[in-house]
Amino acid sequence: MLAIKPPNYKHCPFCGKRLNIKTEEGEKRKFCNSCNWTYYPHVAGAVGAVIAKKGKVLMVQRKREPYKGTWMFPAGFIDYGEHPKETLEREVKEETGLRLVKAELIDVLQSEDDYRSLGHFCFFYRVEVKNGEIKTDEEENSDIKWFDLKKLPKIGWKGHQVMMRRLLGEKN
Ligand SMILES: [Zn+2]
Repeated sequence: MLAIKPPNYKHCPFCGKRLNIKTEEGEKRKFCNSCNWTYYPHVAGAVGAVIAKKGKVLMVQRKREPYKGTWMFPAGFIDYGEHPKETLEREVKEETGLRLVKAELIDVLQSEDDYRSLGHFCFFYRVEVKNGEIKTDEEENSDIKWFDLKKLPKIGWKGHQVMMRRLLGEKN
C-alpha cells in the first residue's frame, strides 16, 4: 500500500460546479449535487515491454521529464478501453517500429515515482518481436538501442530498474 493521495479536484468534470463533500460508508467523497456524481479516485495502468535476445536488450531513451535522458523499456499508458495486451502491441510498434510476435506477462508493478499518475500499475511483459529495423517515436524518445546486458545505460524509473535486475538474474 502506497501512502499517496488522489488528485485534489475542486470542480465537477461534467458541469464545472464546485464539488461538495458527502460521507459514504464512513468515507468522505467529493460529490456534485447538480450531476449526482460521486468522485471515486482510481489509478491508471501502463505496460512495459522487456525485449531481450542473445544477451542484448532493447531500450529507449527518454526525451522528456520525468527522468529525461535516462533509458527505459518501451512503455506507455493504457488508453481508455484498451486491454494491456493491446496497449503492448501498439506501444511496441510505435516505440520500436517492430511487430510483436509473442507476449507473456511477467509481473504487475505499482509505480512509486511517476508524479503524472501516482500509484499506477505497470504490466510488464516479456516480448518477442519480428526481426526488423528499429525506429522509435521521435516525439517521445531521443534514441533507441540494443544494449549488451553487460553494458547497460542509466535507467530512470524504479520499476524498470527492478525489471532489469530480474532480467539479469535470468539466463539469456
Ligand atoms: Zn456536475
